[in-house]
Amino acid sequence: MESVSRVYGGGSGMVRALDNVSITLNRRTFTAVMGPSGSGKSTFLHCAAGLDTPTSGRVWLGDKELSRLGETALTKLRRQRVGFVFQAYNLLPSLSVLDNITLPLRLAGSRPDQAWLSEVVGRVGLAGRLDHLPSQLSGGQQQRVAIARALVTRPEVVLADEPTGALDSRTGRQVLELLRDLVDSMGQTVLMVTHDPVSASYAHQVVFLADGRLAGSLESPTPKTVAERMTRLGEW
Ligand code: ADP
Repeated sequence: MESVSRVYGGGSGMVRALDNVSITLNRRTFTAVMGPSGSGKSTFLHCAAGLDTPTSGRVWLGDKELSRLGETALTKLRRQRVGFVFQAYNLLPSLSVLDNITLPLRLAGSRPDQAWLSEVVGRVGLAGRLDHLPSQLSGGQQQRVAIARALVTRPEVVLADEPTGALDSRTGRQVLELLRDLVDSMGQTVLMVTHDPVSASYAHQVVFLADGRLAGSLESPTPKTVAERMTRLGEW
């Protein structure tokens, strides 16, 4: 992101959700984004994903500059080069696990690469569950389906918005270990928004936002170093 600002509204109601943010996120890294409520985390994620357009500045994903793309090209890019994981798993209840995972491919009109599909399914530990419906799975398993669905198109980056927010802490840890493993052993790139210092400690680095601005970063975070930094950033 190069000098990215995102302004909502105008006049006295104007909000500068992102204020001149410049940052490079390297491939094969796991980055957590933290900040108080209203600090611009969602806007940051949405601008990085091409879901929202900055008011000024430029966003690159690999060799593509997002602001140069029209809506059709952006939709295609989001579908093929970005994987999304949300707090709510957003699975389609009437589709099997396998059909949920391969849905992005079908939407793109392409066929699954069977070797890659097997690897992804094995990696998230769902090999014995492909015929199940989402309602027959635990929350942690459903989030694993969502992660497999995010990976199936071999995206450049996986964006995760509070991916463990709906899970108990033990299941949440397993999902975070999985995300970290995707980076360390598969070379995936992951960007995750979280408000939880323990979740953030699974990342390689934590980026802090305050009032729409970058407010520092931490390498090799621990729950303690993250929590310490948070206390200095104001009201959470
Ligand atoms: P966070 O995810 O850290 O809670 P957001 O990115 O959601 O922060 O919001 C940052 C600021 O931008 C907040 O003040 C919020 O009210 C404002 N904002 C976000 N989206 C909109 C919108 N669509 N219209 C107006 N203001 C918005």
